[in-house]
Amino acid sequence: MIVNENSAKSRRAFLKKAFAGVAVSAAGAAGLSAQDKPKTVYQSSTDDERLAQSRRMHDALPDRYKDKFRITKLETFKVERRFLFLKIHTDHGIVGLGEPITEGRADTCAAAVKEIAPYLIGKDPRRVIHHWQAIYRHAFYRGGPILTSALSGIEQALWDIKGKALGVPVYELLGGPTRHRIRTYAHARDPESVRNAKKEGFTTFKTGVRNKLGGSIIANNKQIAEAVDYFAELREIVGDDCDIGIDFHGAITPQNAKLLIKELEPFNPWFIEEPIQCQDVGGMAEIARGTHLPIATGERIFTKWGFRDILEQRAATILQPDLCHAGGIFEGRLIAGMAEAYYASIAPHNPLGPISLACGLQLAASIPNFLCQEQVTLGEGYITEPFKVVEGHIPLPTKPGLGIELDEAQLEDKLGHDWRNPETYNESDGSVVDW
Ligand SMILES: [Mg+2]
Repeated sequence: MIVNENSAKSRRAFLKKAFAGVAVSAAGAAGLSAQDKPKTVYQSSTDDERLAQSRRMHDALPDRYKDKFRITKLETFKVERRFLFLKIHTDHGIVGLGEPITEGRADTCAAAVKEIAPYLIGKDPRRVIHHWQAIYRHAFYRGGPILTSALSGIEQALWDIKGKALGVPVYELLGGPTRHRIRTYAHARDPESVRNAKKEGFTTFKTGVRNKLGGSIIANNKQIAEAVDYFAELREIVGDDCDIGIDFHGAITPQNAKLLIKELEPFNPWFIEEPIQCQDVGGMAEIARGTHLPIATGERIFTKWGFRDILEQRAATILQPDLCHAGGIFEGRLIAGMAEAYYASIAPHNPLGPISLACGLQLAASIPNFLCQEQVTLGEGYITEPFKVVEGHIPLPTKPGLGIELDEAQLEDKLGHDWRNPETYNESDGSVVDW
């Protein structure tokens, strides 16, 4: 038992209480309330106490942790077009990279990282899971996009440090490669972009609902037909030997989702992504039961606890955890394990930068139920060796940690941004609609 109370008086009181509890317990007496039972308490209030407490606990670890390895500094910086990069520095000269961001809230997430930093400074970066637990649970108010995004980026950087320290890719630490290359899809923004991506070797694509059904609660026949005709055009360009999914982006009402899915079924989309807002898990499960098309969701769901509901209610069979939001790489691994038990697959969501992509690739490389990886940049202008797509796949990374290094010279002119979420309104009456 380690106790670190704020004063000698409270320490004496605690020990007295603890001793009394142990004595009663040893005597086998009944009637001791949970409140009275001795507890192991690690508590501190000042920075000095925190550091001393951390060192005491650390010293109890096996010998291999005795060598000095400490986090010295956390550094965030905004990078165009809407990214927030994190560097965690150590006294070994190893720097870990992460992307601790919720899109449109870069400054808020940077502030969250700054508030977490005092916990990490001076600690051993190799205890990734331990630090995840401490940051997540000691926050008391758990989860949500900001806190889990900050935690996710930190967790990514810790894995990067650990992999670099051991000289192996992160996927080696997760059990070794389950595949030798990683399928990735291109965004089908218009017919021309699909043709170009096909020429580049992509075999999988994703598009959106072009007219968003006018932002209406119940779309008319013309709006539905326009949306379906557009998808049909892309489907024809893609061909039957390639795959194309469609993202409703949670911007379609449940009424319209059912109407649209029924009309899309003859064109066999690869999946229907976020057919409705993900908060209504029961509603998504109802939609899933009403169609043979696979339902995908996950970019706005956080941690294993969020995905548990999706799986238990059979709301989706393709899970899309965003490793910058959902809790990081290992949280993604846990979610993949939960999904496997339901015969569901994993398609990591990623509309962010090359660090996020690198994390997705490490996860994809180490799980059995991987479907496809999203990407919006292969890292040109951001990292020293951008990823390459060959026959629709990215070759397995081989370098230690996340396997990437930032191209500091090229980043110089990309520092800073003021990216904001779009404001979208219904053209007919000016009311707010989802984007
Ligand atoms: Mg989406």
